[in-house]
Amino acid sequence: MYDYDLLVVGSANADLVIDVERRPAAGETVLGGDLAVHPGGKGANQAVAAARLDARTALLARVGDDGHGRLLLDSLGAAGVDTAGVLVGGAPTGVALITVDPLGDNSIVVSPGANSRLSPEDVRAAAGLFRATRVVSAQLEIPLETVVEVVRNLVPGGRFVLNPSPPRELPAEVLAACDPLIVNEHEARVILGDACVGGEPADWARLLLAGGPRSVVVTLGAEGALVCAGADVTRVPSVRVDAVDTTGAGDAFTAALAWRLGAGAALAEAAAYAARVGAAAVTRRGAQESYPTAEEVEALCG
Ligand code: ATP
Repeated sequence: MYDYDLLVVGSANADLVIDVERRPAAGETVLGGDLAVHPGGKGANQAVAAARLDARTALLARVGDDGHGRLLLDSLGAAGVDTAGVLVGGAPTGVALITVDPLGDNSIVVSPGANSRLSPEDVRAAAGLFRATRVVSAQLEIPLETVVEVVRNLVPGGRFVLNPSPPRELPAEVLAACDPLIVNEHEARVILGDACVGGEPADWARLLLAGGPRSVVVTLGAEGALVCAGADVTRVPSVRVDAVDTTGAGDAFTAALAWRLGAGAALAEAAAYAARVGAAAVTRRGAQESYPTAEEVEALCG
């Protein structure tokens, strides 16, 4: 029996959000609405999403000794995340500059700040957290060598879930540990490059699987997701909702999937639950503030 259902290792950012009529093109300036500051970052988002679903969740992350860091610690604590592994200091808290258009689509620039100081030594120093959980999820808004160290610290038989965002080339050691590797369309295109030209998402899933992960999930926004393990590609239907803001939907999806896997669900079953959580998350503004409780997921989908 483990103390936690899920350990998330990753980023914590302050999201600075501005609504715009149209997202700016290169070299263009557009006027937007009032600035809103929200707790975010893919690691913190995943941790809050899991905790809102009642998963016993811990986060290993680093924030600055500043107002944004305190905002993050407050929101994590309020959601029920164990923040003993959230280290403070070393650089300003990471910041994400987000513009959201009327369709709910977003563009994001990230200043990693303290996230870039989350080190392999920090992972080794958190050995107690790793011993206390079987399922660990991560993203790539922290140094790659830190993610490598995460993989090396899994308990025997432990499960590693990775959303490679922002996408970059991964060492074979990390790829081989992913079960699953979870990508959206953009990440799939970047990782596969020319290999995905002319192909369909199901082809991308198979190509990604051939690269080394034990399983692959491709998320397709309002179209749901694809699950690929072995020779099979399974379509996971989406839930029809009125999308207001897609920010953080992928993080909610990943957290929910990792949690259900830890509870013993098969991959397609866990992805189906995660699709419901992702759908619920796009019906409200923001990232962490939009994440549903388990009861709200039930109420949305029956
Ligand atoms: P983001 O980067 O905005 O956090 P993402 O691009 O990583 O998200 P998506 O594929 O957009 O991830 O969304 C993740 C999952 O959430 C989808 O697979 C789907 O199940 C659900 N979802 C997202 N958008 C919608 C939508 N408009 N309607 C229903 N479900 C959605």
